[in-house]
Amino acid sequence: MTSVTNFRYTTSPIIIILGATAVGKTKLSVYLSKRFNGEIINADSMQIYEGLDIATAKPTIEERDNVPHHLFSYVNPLDRSHTVVDYRNDALPIVESVLSRSHLPFIVGGTNYYIESLLFHLNPPEPVTESSSNEQFSSLASDLSDENLSKLTSVQLHELLAKIDKPTSIRKHPNEERKIRRAIEFYRESGGIPLSEALKKQHAESGFSYRGTFRFQRCCLLWLTCQKEELENRINNRVKSMLDRGLIDELSKFHDEYNQTCKESEQSYDYTRGVFQAIGFKEFHDYLLLSEDERKSEHGEKVFANAIERLKLSTRQYSKYQEKWLRMRLLQRVEEHSPDVYELDTTNLSSWTENVEQRAEAIINAFLKNETIPFDALPKKQIDEPVYEQNTCSTCDRVFHLKSQWNDHLKSKQHKRMVRSTDRATFRRKLDNALPSLMNTLDILEKKKMLENEEESDEFDIDKEI
Ligand SMILES: [Zn+2]
Repeated sequence: MTSVTNFRYTTSPIIIILGATAVGKTKLSVYLSKRFNGEIINADSMQIYEGLDIATAKPTIEERDNVPHHLFSYVNPLDRSHTVVDYRNDALPIVESVLSRSHLPFIVGGTNYYIESLLFHLNPPEPVTESSSNEQFSSLASDLSDENLSKLTSVQLHELLAKIDKPTSIRKHPNEERKIRRAIEFYRESGGIPLSEALKKQHAESGFSYRGTFRFQRCCLLWLTCQKEELENRINNRVKSMLDRGLIDELSKFHDEYNQTCKESEQSYDYTRGVFQAIGFKEFHDYLLLSEDERKSEHGEKVFANAIERLKLSTRQYSKYQEKWLRMRLLQRVEEHSPDVYELDTTNLSSWTENVEQRAEAIINAFLKNETIPFDALPKKQIDEPVYEQNTCSTCDRVFHLKSQWNDHLKSKQHKRMVRSTDRATFRRKLDNALPSLMNTLDILEKKKMLENEEESDEFDIDKEI
């Protein structure tokens, strides 16, 4: 895999188009590809799979408009072994071949960690499988097989990771199942090398203190955004059009085929990996399990309406997640070759030509000629390196893996409220426990007092007698 480590075109221009569902990535990328002799490379982790064209919102033949599109529909959805490393190994040679034709690569997505695997060197690092032939490795591979791992909860996976790679486990929250799983898989694939060790070596080699360096020295990133209400409108319209185009039929057919294949190969269902993470599939799964008649019933309609709401919610959440990633990974690190990010607001569709197409064209034009870009890139602001430290708040029953989060938590209203109510409860319990003995003490005191009084009066009587 020479092209992964020795990418030849590091100083050639690369364009990345990033944005949430329904902001117009396909439309813009096709428009720009026609202007600049471009070819489109998919960076959406669901669109790589064959089938489910409607659910994964793949560009149609008409939308592609004769522009070359790469890495769409090329992985069998039943292949569960396809990883981001495979994607990167597939994508980089394509970027190279596009550049060798003197065309401009447009990487369009989609999926943050797919883009990340292209943007950064060795990120994630390739597992070294030198020891793959020895016995130790094969037992490791079977102990940590996908099947075994799938039986563990996120917390159990975290505990497992702590045993094989403590430094990485400290950096992960027990809820970060996917990341934890990836670190365990790395350990397995590399024949027992912890991810933290591999990263340390990589950092030492690259001379950078953390993470990988940027692979492309000339990269421009266009970020398509849209205001919240309008994005919700578009998502609603998109869901409607998906349903009109036969989303349910497509999902049903796929669901049946998948279950059939599982039965034949005696595999268990696994809806947590691969294409089943596609927005659309998991939300409609309950509905797909209903029979034809059940779907038509009142209950069926309720399940359906619920699925649509969940679909809209996931789409909105993903958009938020993407923004967070972009800010954290690209705007909060100022380093050599970190790409400039240009925001294009797509909210007002009536000014799409002016605000999106023409603006993007002007940016790329100047970028390709190495001229001053007529629009401001988003400001970059370096933030402090995070300090990882595992802390557990026993009062709130929560785990924190960042020191800053822990400190924030201790200062938070929520935590203080919990502490107060716990304190009150403890006080009440103590009081309850203490009450019987307190009453007892009071009793004794009272009796003692009475006795003393009696004695006093006795003495008085004696006095009198004397
Ligand atoms: Zn707390």
